[in-house]
Amino acid sequence: APVVELRGTGKSYGNIRALHGVDLAVHPGKVTCVLGDNGAGKSTLIKIISGLHQHTEGEVLCDGQPVKFTTPRDALDRGIATVYQDLATVPLMPVWRNFFLGSEMTKGAWPFRRLDIARMKKTADEELRNMGIVLDDLEQPIGTLSGGQRQCVAIARAVYFGARVLILDEPTAALGVKQSGVVLKYIAVARDRGLGVIFITHNPHHAYMVGDHFSVLRLGTLELSASRDQVSLEE
Ligand code: ADP
Ligand code: ADP
Repeated sequence: APVVELRGTGKSYGNIRALHGVDLAVHPGKVTCVLGDNGAGKSTLIKIISGLHQHTEGEVLCDGQPVKFTTPRDALDRGIATVYQDLATVPLMPVWRNFFLGSEMTKGAWPFRRLDIARMKKTADEELRNMGIVLDDLEQPIGTLSGGQRQCVAIARAVYFGARVLILDEPTAALGVKQSGVVLKYIAVARDRGLGVIFITHNPHHAYMVGDHFSVLRLGTLELSASRDQVSLEE
């Protein structure tokens, strides 16, 4: 069963209809790719699922129950984590500190308020290694890492804090071929850990490399919704 589902979902900002009649399902262990040009409604879709905006049309279901997230906290409490393009990391802070950044927002992370620094560093190190992310120095400011490495830290953080749904907003947009490959690999790791992934991207090749389902938005509506076996790159 899907963790999150949109049914005929839409959103208007005043009289601007940004999203209309969208059906989308996020299944555990599957990657749903959302493609579309600028203005297609991708950000609006993310904001609805992550609790930054409320839908004005249709339904959003979480674990089969209709929900209306009024704050990002509501979505986080249901295990929906979003990695935004700016990554919400603080460049001048050490990698390990960034790993815990924002953890006050997450239910499962409360015990960390009482943890000592040595234990936090150890946990960050272990969790990054668990994801196959090897960084030689967690004391270095995260700003010294490449964009791809920062994406990977952000993905590992969401996995560690118990996300069930991971929303990635154009994670490969600013990256070169090699770095994109690394990020795509960690998207697959998160998927294999059983997370349902929403992968927003402009790049059909990146989508095809990890996607199980493809939803293409155009002017706020779904132009295409197809599973992997229904599409081919040769078309
Ligand atoms: P599962 O393997 O979880 O049962 P399937 O891949 O068999 O899911 O899909 C069942 C139906 O749901 C198919 O018609 C498929 O196109 C559709 N579907 C699957 N994933 C999504 C999705 N993310 N968004 C919209 N429809 C989907
Ligand atoms: P995308 O992320 O695909 O570029 P958006 O969801 O940002 O698309 O935008 C979809 C449409 O909604 C656009 O026409 C955009 O101008 C409009 N829009 C987005 N956010 C707002 C807002 N806060 N207020 C008014 N209109 C908005």
